[in-house]
Amino acid sequence: MTKIILKKGRDESLRRFHPWVFSGAVAQIVGQPSEGDVVGVFDHEGNFLAYGHYQIGSIAVRVLSFSGEDVLGPGFWVNMIGKALKVREAAGLANGLETNCFRLIHGEGDGLPGLILDWYDGVCVMQAHSVGMFRAKGAICEALKTVFGDKLKAVYDKSSGTAPFKAGLDLIDGYLFKADGFSDDEQIVLENGNKFLVNWTEGQKTGFFLDQRENRALVGRYSKGRNVLNLFCYTGGFSIYALRGGAVHVDSVDSSKKAVDMVGRNMVLNGYGDDTHNDICADAIDFLRDVPEDKYDLMIVDPPAFAKHRGALSNALRAYQRLNAAAISKVAPGGLVFTFSCSQVVDKEAFALAVFSAAAQTGRSVRILDRLNQPADHSVNIYHPEGEYLKGLLLYVE
Ligand code: SAH
Repeated sequence: MTKIILKKGRDESLRRFHPWVFSGAVAQIVGQPSEGDVVGVFDHEGNFLAYGHYQIGSIAVRVLSFSGEDVLGPGFWVNMIGKALKVREAAGLANGLETNCFRLIHGEGDGLPGLILDWYDGVCVMQAHSVGMFRAKGAICEALKTVFGDKLKAVYDKSSGTAPFKAGLDLIDGYLFKADGFSDDEQIVLENGNKFLVNWTEGQKTGFFLDQRENRALVGRYSKGRNVLNLFCYTGGFSIYALRGGAVHVDSVDSSKKAVDMVGRNMVLNGYGDDTHNDICADAIDFLRDVPEDKYDLMIVDPPAFAKHRGALSNALRAYQRLNAAAISKVAPGGLVFTFSCSQVVDKEAFALAVFSAAAQTGRSVRILDRLNQPADHSVNIYHPEGEYLKGLLLYVE
């Protein structure tokens, strides 16, 4: 196995269990690793530190184990997936009764950097973000079969948009496994008793935004008697919860035609009709510009990540400020705004500051009623705080 020897003094973050080795910390590579190979990492005196996936780029190694256990055999994946499942069970997500979809592996948060596995009632959708995880997909699929047995209906690899493109990698999405008789590319899942159609081949990301489960439930609790505007609605997650919570009327807006079509199908599935809901295919910012003041007394603002890397940070903060100022200025007196950012590089302080500036710009009196987060199945490894990405505020606008 290739050995990666670190420069003197550059082993400290690994000793604190941070799972990345930056290329600048590497003194010497003993061997000729291919990208995605498992390598051993050692300090400058030759002491073992970790095993991980090697990749060319600013992160040279993504750590799989600090203990020296065998990370090459099938037992490793079975063990890691089994441990992650236990966490979801502890969080009450894996009983299958009210909720049968959850994130099973959240990368570094579950000790498997570069791997996302989402569970949709027996269908496991994988997104590899590293060459190592992409190359391990066969082993991961076998481990899923071992852990879930008959419960596993299919494993779908959707890494073409997430794995780094490298020559020799066959980045074509497709099924790694299908149980006998399973043929669909979509199915209905349950989230807190609400039904949602998830289509992993056509949908965004793995098909559904599992990370808003708890925040959707909160919206439901505040919706009674309110006129709701759900901006950036995707397949209508927040809208269904709002109606179930007693909203008078909900308008759902998204710029993706495919997403808006799914909102309509989800409404039918849950028994809601045109009398209480409109789905609108439009740019959310244009739509907000034409919204009459006082029409809506609950707004949800959940845009896609405005900053995907540090370089885009200041533009993103300005965009969050503009968008939130528009929402805060239009919400009816006594109204609520649930506002979110899923940009990892925008931390919660920076987001709160952008929303603060937005509120100040409108001159309205605004209270923070709640601070919102990602749920338990989007777990954050305490040694890798970068895993925290979803943040939100619940505002009351006088
Ligand atoms: N709130 C959603 C997830 C939102 S993801 C949920 O609970 O499932 C962000 C959404 O914003 C995507 O559906 C994307 O199609 C949409 N989007 C991106 N840019 C947009 C724009 N300018 N106007 C409206 N929708 C937009």
